[in-house]
Amino acid sequence: MTYDLIVIGGGPAGITAGIYAARQKLKTLLITKGFAGQIAAKAVPIENYPGFEKTTGLELMQKFVAHLKKHKEVEIEIDSVKEIKKSGKDFFVLTVSKKEFEGRSVIVASGADPRPLEVPGEKEFIGKGVSYCVTCDGPFYHGKDVVIIGGGNAGFEAALSLANFAKKIYILERGDKALADKENQERAQKTAKIEVITSADIKKIEGGDFVSSIAYQDLNSKETKELKVEGVFVEIGYQPATSFVKNLVDFNKKDEIIVDPNTGETKTPGLFAAGDVDDSAYKQVVIAAGEGAKAAMSVSIYLQEKSSQAQW
Ligand SMILES: Cc1cc2nc3c(=O)[nH]c(=O)nc-3n(C[C@H](O)[C@H](O)[C@H](O)COP(=O)(O)OP(=O)(O)OC[C@H]3O[C@@H](n4cnc5c(N)ncnc54)[C@H](O)[C@@H]3O)c2cc1C
Repeated sequence: MTYDLIVIGGGPAGITAGIYAARQKLKTLLITKGFAGQIAAKAVPIENYPGFEKTTGLELMQKFVAHLKKHKEVEIEIDSVKEIKKSGKDFFVLTVSKKEFEGRSVIVASGADPRPLEVPGEKEFIGKGVSYCVTCDGPFYHGKDVVIIGGGNAGFEAALSLANFAKKIYILERGDKALADKENQERAQKTAKIEVITSADIKKIEGGDFVSSIAYQDLNSKETKELKVEGVFVEIGYQPATSFVKNLVDFNKKDEIIVDPNTGETKTPGLFAAGDVDDSAYKQVVIAAGEGAKAAMSVSIYLQEKSSQAQW
């Protein structure tokens, strides 16, 4: 079977694209690793999505998913996309569980993943002391000493949340001052458990079965120092999830997919991108949802034009 549209991603952008595609009667398949998306996984408070004065990422996403599922005509496949190929007029989407789907058009709405540290020990200790989600894993660190890598807002918010559980929380920042806004820094200062270490570059994560310490370089003295910690929380930003689409699109310096801002189309006709994965300046739920809608509407026009040219 050939779908009119294959949407990749079950976050705000992908779900909205799915809803708009269903309403335009496009035969649509939505493939996603899961319906978590970034905000649901973090259960963050959301106070800037119109119509919802105060909610959480999880609650908002549950509403998005329920709305999508009302459109029974959108088929849903829980899987991870490994590769997209274009052959002739159609796209072929391959998944890690070795399934292949054919579509006349594709919207990539795969968002972004936490940026890794890329230091020795990081991969080895994932799930054994290395974490990218304080909301998910914070309670495991009750009474323990932990370090957060990254002194931006995400790092400080993670530290404040961990203060409910951990005994001592270090925030390690590579720059000579923390970048978090004043309010977060003031709240951290009032919490005796939190200590900020600046000009500190993490070099290694060490331990046995679990993390027991990290080594970092003091960028002023150039000395290597050690922190005895049982948890390492990585909060250094996000990178677009684009490994499966490398050959069909162009990227900017941040590895974001370059799209036509009017339509969301990439350099390959019929291949669109929406949400945090593309090169639009701002990364927000309302923007991702808007871009998902725009891409689905553009797909509809694209398919109409192609059929009037009798290419299918
Ligand atoms: C801590 C935090 C707080 C935030 N707070 C706010 C806020 O208060 N207000 C706000 O508006 N925005 C906030 N944001 C930003 C917001 O979460 C993003 O802008 C939004 O989630 C982007 O939506 P998206 O659909 O583009 O991507 P995502 O939400 O990242 O969703 C991507 C989807 O694609 C799936 N996927 C990824 N790779 C593949 C693959 N290979 N195959 C199949 N599926 C795949 C994922 O499983 C996921 O379902 C916050 C983000 C974070 C991290």
